[in-house]
Amino acid sequence: MTNNASLLQRRSAAVPHGVATALPVFVQRAENAELWDVEGNRFIDFAAGIAVLNVGHCHPRVIDAARNQMAQYTHTAFQVAAYEPYVALAERLNALAPIKGPAKTILLSTGAEAVENAIKIARVATGRSAVIAFSGGFHGRSFMAMSLTGKTTPYKRGFGPLPGDVFHVPFPVEHQGIDVQQSLDALHTIFKADVAADEVAAIIIEPVQGEGGFHAAPIELLRALREIADEHGIVLIVDEVQTGFARTGKLFGIEHSGVQPDMITVAKSLAGGFPLSAVIGRADLMDAVGPGGLGGTYGGSPVGCAAALAVLDVIEEEQLAKRAGVLGQATVDRLQSLAARTDLRPIGHIRALGSMIAFDLLAKRDGDDVDPVATRAVVQRAHALGLVVLACGAQGEAIRLLFPLTIQDALLQEGLDLLEQALSASG
Ligand code: PMP
Repeated sequence: MTNNASLLQRRSAAVPHGVATALPVFVQRAENAELWDVEGNRFIDFAAGIAVLNVGHCHPRVIDAARNQMAQYTHTAFQVAAYEPYVALAERLNALAPIKGPAKTILLSTGAEAVENAIKIARVATGRSAVIAFSGGFHGRSFMAMSLTGKTTPYKRGFGPLPGDVFHVPFPVEHQGIDVQQSLDALHTIFKADVAADEVAAIIIEPVQGEGGFHAAPIELLRALREIADEHGIVLIVDEVQTGFARTGKLFGIEHSGVQPDMITVAKSLAGGFPLSAVIGRADLMDAVGPGGLGGTYGGSPVGCAAALAVLDVIEEEQLAKRAGVLGQATVDRLQSLAARTDLRPIGHIRALGSMIAFDLLAKRDGDDVDPVATRAVVQRAHALGLVVLACGAQGEAIRLLFPLTIQDALLQEGLDLLEQALSASG
């Protein structure tokens, strides 16, 4: 019989343990912000496949677009025989992205692959090799992306040697005692001690750290990085893999700062569940690499492109950037009322940019010390109650909320009711 327990046993025997799964259940079907497992249990989905489903599970427009594409052709390899959906999506992203100057786009398959390619292009365009990244940042699990990621366990430990010439600057988080000036001082120390500024190819930063705990990069920092990049001819890369596509209340998270990056990496919600990623960048930089230096068999899959074009239509027509702001505010209001309740576990550091929302479980009410053990317990309790939430943060101290931006108001409130139950101190 197919049930969760028997599938878990088969999974354990057949799939390596290095691939962890948050929920101990197996999905049967999904629709918008709900999942059903093979035993018929229903879950409200506040994870959205890790920020992939901003337009919800199986949005009919996206499914139709993919289906129509599949009826024509599914794969030719863009490098062998090109197709219009790739070009149409590149044109659309070039027009939408807040890039400094005319843009060009290369399409790939995963977020890590987009990051790898952004660095390859920046290195060739500048003729330099060093890259600056931030502690707590996450850029993927391939080798360069792993090297750029600013967290050792579980992402880097044991996998070395990693690509060199990568330097990490402490990311400013006020309640963790690091401010913008300290970050900038650390960057200047790297320029003095480790690598001269004019030997740096790129600086890469997430507008809001995702896996690192949903901490927004202060606008002051982003502006300073833009100035430093301009002064020294460094390519400023913004990794929007998690912040992209209306999640933060703007199509791209960086738009909140007014800073125009030289390159943007995107993936996840770009194609509403189909594996597709991109590097959008200044045309002069993107053209630095000679023919054959970039690409990949599956990069810019026609089905992914068709889905992405539909996702962009849905975001526009359903005004999902605006909706992200409304849903985010409603959620923050509710979280603040939960934080004030003494009958619930203490929560704090509530932070949100649009619907990219997180909070920490605290060791003590009104303190700053966090309690990752309590976070794990609340996440598991939420799962048992039928709510999918994920932890994040340097120590796994935060709970992040990433519901689809198409979630119905009543379902959002129902999910928050379950979260409230999961936070109950008696649990
Ligand atoms: N960059 C960021 C900011 C991410 O959040 C992620 C995935 N969590 C990645 C890169 C890597 O994306 P992928 O898992 O598709 O390789």
